[in-house]
Amino acid sequence: MEDLKNFNLPELKKIIKEKGFEEFRAKQIFEWIYKKKVLNIEDIKNIPNKLKDEFIKKYTLSSLNIIKIQESKDGTKKILFGLLDGNKIESVIIPDKERKTLCISSQAGCGCACAFCATGKLGFKRNLKAAEIIEEFLRASLLEKIDNIVFMGMGEPLLNWQNVKKAIEIFSDKDGSNFSQTRITVSTIGIVPVIKKIADENLRFYLAVSLVAANDNLRWKLVPFNKKYPLKEIINVSGYYNKKTKKEITYEYVLLKGINDSENDAKEITKILKGIKCKINLIPFNAKLNSEFKRPDEKNILNFQKILIENGYKTFIRKEKGTDISAACGQLAGE
Ligand code: SF4
Repeated sequence: MEDLKNFNLPELKKIIKEKGFEEFRAKQIFEWIYKKKVLNIEDIKNIPNKLKDEFIKKYTLSSLNIIKIQESKDGTKKILFGLLDGNKIESVIIPDKERKTLCISSQAGCGCACAFCATGKLGFKRNLKAAEIIEEFLRASLLEKIDNIVFMGMGEPLLNWQNVKKAIEIFSDKDGSNFSQTRITVSTIGIVPVIKKIADENLRFYLAVSLVAANDNLRWKLVPFNKKYPLKEIINVSGYYNKKTKKEITYEYVLLKGINDSENDAKEITKILKGIKCKINLIPFNAKLNSEFKRPDEKNILNFQKILIENGYKTFIRKEKGTDISAACGQLAGE
């Protein structure tokens, strides 16, 4: 059965009109889903029974079920969802002082095979539909008030752009959740043609680009998908995004001990990003037992940051959250 959350408001109006009901019913239904967060058509109260019965026969409002919620000692919550076809995905609620950020998945598994990422080891299962992405948010927001959304969970969001875009548009619809796009960040390894397309569209979310390495030779080993889009093209197109949208780009850089954490790597970054308005987030690798990668020593991490700051780049070190429940960056494996 099709999930009603796959439809934006104009599409819902069209469906309702075709069934012979007044258009304003669409707005009522939208409010029940996105403001009152009902996940069952039966719970929608103020619409005609005939319309409700027709909807119950043809549509659903539930595409995920919560299998498990784990809570870290730092308050991070990892939610394991089951999809109707048996695939599994994860979302993470990350607390930071009073605010909560929801890290959301856009695909089941991922085909990009980044060497340091647990999701990459699963391989690609399938793209999530808009309704599934939206339901991650709705179910998480029934647990906690969500202040920010980041597309940094399982999957490469720009390889499922149609559905991610639709979910973002529905999140931010003033008749629905009214969640400002400026509180949403989409993180990508750099899918050049899609970044170009987004830059030309009228969207207002933030873009984060995962650099991983400062040269193609190393990046090809760590992010095999990069062979399609060399670093120079990725940086050029993110500069284009920055100019068109006037939005500051965030570059993420996962620090891997002895691989990309040298002074030379830091200096190379300052050269390749020259002239781009950006900030840099350093993400020390979240080491897992048996991983071939290690977290750099604290001294190296701070030295790396110092070089970038001295060259004029706002540079932050991401605090580890949820490591004990494998909820940190690069650890999501749908377990
Ligand atoms: S880092 Fe992102 S793009 Fe790379 S394998 Fe993991 S989920 Fe996919």
